[in-house]
Amino acid sequence: MHFTFTYIPHNIEKLQEYLDFLFYEVWLKADGDFDADKLSGHPELQQIYIDLGYKEGKWAQFFNSSIENIYREFLKLDSKYRAFLSVRYANNNNIEGLCCDKTIEPITYEEISQSHPDLSKALKSFYSKLYGSNSPFNLEDFGFLNKDLITDYDMAFMEKNNQQVCPFCALTHLKANNHSYREAYDHYIPKGSYPFNVLNFRNLAPMCNECNSTYKLSKSPLYPIDPLKGKNARTKAFYPYADDHPEISFKIEISNSNILNLTPDDISITIHADSGYKEEIETWMRVFGLEERYKATLCSPNDGQVWFNKAIDEFENAKELANIVDYDVFYKRILREAQKYPLSDKGFLKAQFLEECRKKGLFNSI
Ligand SMILES: [Zn+2]
Repeated sequence: MHFTFTYIPHNIEKLQEYLDFLFYEVWLKADGDFDADKLSGHPELQQIYIDLGYKEGKWAQFFNSSIENIYREFLKLDSKYRAFLSVRYANNNNIEGLCCDKTIEPITYEEISQSHPDLSKALKSFYSKLYGSNSPFNLEDFGFLNKDLITDYDMAFMEKNNQQVCPFCALTHLKANNHSYREAYDHYIPKGSYPFNVLNFRNLAPMCNECNSTYKLSKSPLYPIDPLKGKNARTKAFYPYADDHPEISFKIEISNSNILNLTPDDISITIHADSGYKEEIETWMRVFGLEERYKATLCSPNDGQVWFNKAIDEFENAKELANIVDYDVFYKRILREAQKYPLSDKGFLKAQFLEECRKKGLFNSI
């Protein structure tokens, strides 16, 4: 990715704390019939459970009955499988570890369903509804997830992460605090396949609609193909909240001198980092379809073609106005501008594209 976000500690993390308590202290320790006393280690959550028991609404009933259903499924598990799930629960929530260390194994609903189909079903029924407009966490008892908690979290997040460009593509603006709407948050490790981390905000990152809803969808940064079939293909990925992120550089090669009629086949794009990161870059390009999108940008009449034409037009103007006759001097100035602001007007692509045009001698005849 072009840059990483800074993680923002926030009161919204209490929801993940509830979920951690349920997993480690209630379900993993399942023994005997379930009742409210099983929640006595967390008085706040216990009170919510009791209060929801008196409410009629479907969300209240869904939350309480889900806790009880999953508890009943855990009763059937032997201690070995409970220990196994405990490790995998921690792994699924170690987002940085999953991204950076291929020895850390996540678990999917499909894997659980191979040996424990009813447990997998109960978990998916619960976790798949926890984030979004139908979440029981939208109840007042939990602090109104969508209306208050996420809105407040997003304000704090965008105040700190104010670049206002999507870090996953840098092609698109990212809505921030000057907008009345907020950008959607993507589950980086997809919530449809992996249980336990749906409200872990280290697994949630705002991204542009094109990245989120057109290209990434449910693609996993951890496996290039179906996780069940692609065990050996576990891949590393950039962690969206990493403290250290390498300098990214782009190289563009063009095999056609007719810039106004370029096709994607005429272009080769490679992305490098200053200190390796080959696998992370491959994952990034795969998940977000970057090769296709960057090539399409260079072929676009409103991007690549305009950059090329403007470079020629502006030099003609500069020659008339300022007696500049050396194209190289002029060119170095516009290249410097594009390099100085790589995230503005797709400067990271523009600079390399114009450099390749110059290398091919396309400005020599001006
Ligand atoms: Zn994007």
